[in-house]
Amino acid sequence: MAKKLARKAAAKAAPKRKARGARKYVYFFGGGKADGNRHMKDLLGGKGSGLAEMTNAGLPVPPGFTISTEACTLYYREGRKVPSTVDREMLANLAKLEKAAGATLGKVENPLLVSVRSGAKFSMPGMMDTILNLGLNDRTVEGLKARTSNGRFAYDSYRRFIQMYGAVVLEIPKDAFEHALEHVKEARGVRLDTDLDEAAWRDVVARFKDVVRSRTKRDFPQVPLDQLRGARDAVFRSWNNARAIEYRRIYEIPDSIGTAVNVQMMVFGNTGNRSATGVGFTRNPATGAKEFYGEFLVNAQGEDVVAGIRTPQPISELENVMPHAYKELRQITTRLERHYKDVQDFEFTVQDDRLFMLQTRNGKRTGYAAVVIATDLVDEKLISPKDAVLQVDPESVSQLLAPVFEPKAWQALPVTTRGLPASPGAASGQVVFTADDAVEWTRQGKKVILVRKETVPDDIHGMFVSQGVLTATGGMTSHAAVVGRQMGKPSVVGAGALEISESGRRFSVDGATVREGDFVSFDGLTGEVKLGQVGTRPSEILQVVAGDMKPAASDLYRRFDRLLTWADKFRRLGIRANADQPDQAETAYALGARGIGLCRTEHMFFGEGRIPIVQRMILADNESDRRAALAELLPLQRKDFYGVFKAMHGSPVTIRTIDPPLHEFLPKREDLMVEVATMEAKGTTGRELDEKRALLRRVEQLHEFNPMLGHRGVRLGITYPEITEMQTRAILEAACQLAKEGTSVVPEIMIPLVGLVKELRDQKAVVDRVAADVMREQGVRVKYLVGTMIEVPRGAMTAEEIAHEAEFFSFGTNDLTQLTFGFSRDDIGKFLGSYQDKKILEKDPFATIDTIGVGELVELGVQRGRRGRPDLKVGICGEHGGDPSSIHFFAKAGLDYVSASPYRIPVARLAAAQAALHVKVGD
Ligand code: ADP
Ligand code: MG
Ligand code: MG
Repeated sequence: MAKKLARKAAAKAAPKRKARGARKYVYFFGGGKADGNRHMKDLLGGKGSGLAEMTNAGLPVPPGFTISTEACTLYYREGRKVPSTVDREMLANLAKLEKAAGATLGKVENPLLVSVRSGAKFSMPGMMDTILNLGLNDRTVEGLKARTSNGRFAYDSYRRFIQMYGAVVLEIPKDAFEHALEHVKEARGVRLDTDLDEAAWRDVVARFKDVVRSRTKRDFPQVPLDQLRGARDAVFRSWNNARAIEYRRIYEIPDSIGTAVNVQMMVFGNTGNRSATGVGFTRNPATGAKEFYGEFLVNAQGEDVVAGIRTPQPISELENVMPHAYKELRQITTRLERHYKDVQDFEFTVQDDRLFMLQTRNGKRTGYAAVVIATDLVDEKLISPKDAVLQVDPESVSQLLAPVFEPKAWQALPVTTRGLPASPGAASGQVVFTADDAVEWTRQGKKVILVRKETVPDDIHGMFVSQGVLTATGGMTSHAAVVGRQMGKPSVVGAGALEISESGRRFSVDGATVREGDFVSFDGLTGEVKLGQVGTRPSEILQVVAGDMKPAASDLYRRFDRLLTWADKFRRLGIRANADQPDQAETAYALGARGIGLCRTEHMFFGEGRIPIVQRMILADNESDRRAALAELLPLQRKDFYGVFKAMHGSPVTIRTIDPPLHEFLPKREDLMVEVATMEAKGTTGRELDEKRALLRRVEQLHEFNPMLGHRGVRLGITYPEITEMQTRAILEAACQLAKEGTSVVPEIMIPLVGLVKELRDQKAVVDRVAADVMREQGVRVKYLVGTMIEVPRGAMTAEEIAHEAEFFSFGTNDLTQLTFGFSRDDIGKFLGSYQDKKILEKDPFATIDTIGVGELVELGVQRGRRGRPDLKVGICGEHGGDPSSIHFFAKAGLDYVSASPYRIPVARLAAAQAALHVKVGD
């Protein structure tokens, strides 16, 4: 959700103007016609635009109006005050609503009641609780009772209103109301809310009003218009509450877009047993299966279904209880799915057997479900392969590569209990009971499972770091379930057998007691929970990729493969992998990489038994000793290159010559000093001590104050050309060998850290000379390229000149970011948090490319480079190559390919396709 893109999208949906040229801030919907529509999410929020669209489609939607996100912006601009123009427009729309509803706000005989709901462009669960039944006061409640001849209903509605308004607008802690309600229930010996009668609810209302009076030193507001303004302003205020801010930070939603306010006539699911309220999906959002999916409660209102107070019934049972409403709901939601061409997440209420739709939106889903749904919708001819490619969030496909349990170990443990399978994936870790502990323990390197009675929006930071989330109450649409699916976090909810004592930091289940720090494991796809730790293993996709499972045996793999093959048709960027070993290269190839964008040769030096040889090379104080050590390394590197080339089946392979400072291959200076001192103290003498001392001396010689800016990259090749010679020889010998075997490969030899064209010229001469020697010796000719990494700002600035020498560029955006900002990427953790809190930086520039600064250097490097050499091949091999929003940027900058780590390849393929199709990220 790149900020730039969001901004652009906002600019596009230019606000409509009213006749007199004044800006319009309030949009009406009702009577089969709406001012807005589905394309106005920026202005009306997702909820408002959905209500407008459903109204236009003639669906049964209670009338109302939406106050736009621009009014929210104004509210903040005016110092948290709604301007009078907006207020006047709201009053005009209220009058219209009263007419459409045939009821009047505050009129005793026939009171209009409304809900006040927040709704931003991106859904933000739990940003603000909805206020229902607004318009009730001590007099209108009697009017409602008289009209419905249902005093129980009227007073239940009134107490709900006081409760919601009290919590949300007056900011009274929720427990205050809950205590008062519990008290009345206990006094009457009643367990369920539904068992309370009118007298009881009257008692509750009186107590709630006392709570308000004692907490705010004022009476509960009785004037409906004051109530409405209070609720409206609270929605705007909620945009900047802590959990909304946290949510936006995690999902990278811009702070500037604001929320809309929806005011809508109430319909009632709590008038009795012919009424109900519910939520659902047109397909299963966890697995993607094509099944009507959801929950409802008879005689209930609003959030009762998701609050976990009463356990809801599966939606299939609605067919038995209210067959007529069920049939209509099926018809409407099927129609909505066809209309939006995507799975719909809907909310409805049945009032006295009459169905009303209250919300519809594209349903959030797990990565599994996304792939299943997209391929199914194509098969059903509802969408095209192109739509399918646009529909799936690239990041979410990485979930399909997440580990699953080691089946034997998993089956060996008994099932302790079961919950609802809310979000798939295998989770195993140590139990913690609070979100803060989850964060703290994770920081200490532990893997944790967050166990809660139910999660609340404040838990989101803890959910984010946990391996999985396990709750005791709540249904498939509870907070933990919704957020878990969205994060791709394995979640099991509503495991009712857990008796949790959060204060005691333990829970008991099935006769066992589990304490903080004990291990639990669960499977988010089946809902099974087990005590103990279970190892995990690669997902089905990775098993197929590794050849351990046949593609035909994995439905998931085949769908995944179809989707990504479609993506490949649309993308223009090539996809390569960063891989150093033949097995990594094979995985990357199987996941769709067609080429290696970065093979870090020094990683090969860490291979088994190699470090002593490398150290001998480094310790050599003369060229001939150094050459002797290099000669030992040569066959090893040649073998590695041969393997990598082979794994790529002739696709290009970019090999970077040695890059890190040499001391990285030697023991730490401090360790050596201790060793030498210990040996001396023990009186050790002889060869061993001499060698250690020599090593320490060399380490001290190599010591640098600032190694990242020191003797590394091309600078090594210039001072020790024999290293470049050996590496070139290994590369070319491997290529020649393959050529003789009939596989042609085109090695791309990449010189790192070049800032001066003469550096590259120097090294290119070495490469060309050795390559010519090898080809003469081998008696074959192979094509190879010599190029450079652009990772020093001076390299980007002088790209034109450098391109005269370089046959290709690869942007090393890790170093380029480091050197452009002057941020050490190993130390940024110390201050990045503060930078983000203070909004100095929104994102970690090492994860998502800084398009403005570093990106400018990339664009400039591409332009100037191609001026120097029109057919210059340009790629990027930093971490950013696997980040979807960075990929959008690279596509725009005109790069030829991106290179990402093997497991990010599927994400990159999909993101590259979306970039080519110019999708607005986040829509
Ligand atoms: P959220 O964004 O958290 O889903 P909503 O604004 O959709 O919040 O409101 C939550 C619930 O409140 C709805 O699902 C619905 O059950 C109830 N609700 C909202 N408006 C009305 C209304 N006008 N009449 C009846 N119920 C309503
Ligand atoms: Mg809500
Ligand atoms: Mg809703």
